[in-house]
Amino acid sequence: MFTTLQDRLTATFKGLRGKGRLSEADIDATAREIRVALLEADVALPVVREFIAAVRERARGAEVSQALNPAQQIIKIVNEELVTILGGETRRVRFAKNPPTVIMLAGLQGAGKTTLAGKLALWLKGQGHAPLLVAADLQRPNAVTQLQVVGERAGTPVFAPEPGNGVGDPVRVARQAMDFARDKQHDVVVVDTAGRLGIDAELMQQAADIRDAVQPDEILFVVDAMIGQDAVVTAEAFLEGVGFTGVVLTKLDGDARGGAALSVAKVTGRQVMFASNGEKLTDFDVFHPDRMASRILD
Ligand code: GDP
Repeated sequence: MFTTLQDRLTATFKGLRGKGRLSEADIDATAREIRVALLEADVALPVVREFIAAVRERARGAEVSQALNPAQQIIKIVNEELVTILGGETRRVRFAKNPPTVIMLAGLQGAGKTTLAGKLALWLKGQGHAPLLVAADLQRPNAVTQLQVVGERAGTPVFAPEPGNGVGDPVRVARQAMDFARDKQHDVVVVDTAGRLGIDAELMQQAADIRDAVQPDEILFVVDAMIGQDAVVTAEAFLEGVGFTGVVLTKLDGDARGGAALSVAKVTGRQVMFASNGEKLTDFDVFHPDRMASRILD
């Protein structure tokens, strides 16, 4: 579907080999090709600009070696820069010294938070933890039921408001859940929160109140990779309104090239920690910056 950056650069540098340093004209041509490749991968424009400036700088200093042709050499630089922005290494969950560890999920409605809660539960169980899921999304009538279904599939208990007790008050439910978790020896608490279709001050405040009540060790901003360039605007709003420590990119099984990962990481300075790539609870993995770099380039 796409011409890869490798193909583009190979065409740009046809016949150029062992020529010493790249000329300014070569670097300009390179910058153009990288720009197109990144925009096609849905990377946000300001991020593309900054990225190209960094690559230009490195390309200027690079010797054209005999071992790598210029296209390969630029690809290597681009790849290294991508991996650096994406955080270099996989960013692991920071578990609390004194359990329970609290992981709060935040993001727009439909981003995949509830599904992610189930995926995380299964993943945590696989690592020997005893998670508890908390239904603090009381906005949508069926959100609690949906989390209960997901919890059942993951073989993980779900703390939900008792009828008449805390209904409509997600902060209270979150507090009660913490007591329950301590009582029942759950060492990780995953709190699902409500999202709306757009950015909404009231809901942002609710998420901030839940945050203050449960003091999360990790707040994961959940974002649909398919929203592409819009991911940046949403991420900035959540960073300001609630704050977050890491990012989860969902729906990577679609045809999104993953530019959202790069944009969000660069603009917010928070790393993508997990990737969701399907509706099944096992369609999930920790995020690998090097693999995402290849996805953006190929
Ligand atoms: P929430 O509103 O943020 O809680 O989002 P949900 O967890 O309800 O997910 C919204 C929709 O996206 C549901 O139909 C999910 O099955 C679907 N979904 C969630 N994660 C993924 C994913 O990684 N890939 C695909 N294809 N669908 C997903």
